[in-house]
Amino acid sequence: MNNDMAKVQKLHNQSDEFAGYLVFCPGCECYHLFDSRWTFNGDFEKPTFDGSMLVNKDDPTSRCHSFLTNGEWQFLQDCFHHLAGQTVDLVDLDLS
Ligand SMILES: [Zn+2]
Repeated sequence: MNNDMAKVQKLHNQSDEFAGYLVFCPGCECYHLFDSRWTFNGDFEKPTFDGSMLVNKDDPTSRCHSFLTNGEWQFLQDCFHHLAGQTVDLVDLDLS
């Protein structure tokens, strides 16, 4: 059993190739994946990814647009969810 908590999970695909970094979005209440298009600072407690995460950009009813910097989610005003315009701490992943 692994009790280590982390805020970022490194994922590999079925070919064991790097797939991306998984983080939990408290606005969408689901996971978002930062793949190789982003640069990760390597800090699993206070992660920073360069560039914004934009999910469902063509659908305002499910759009999520954010930056993840130094372990904090910054949600932009065009998010559909209740955290639009807010900055919140990244939470630990619970992948059990
Ligand atoms: Zn989201």
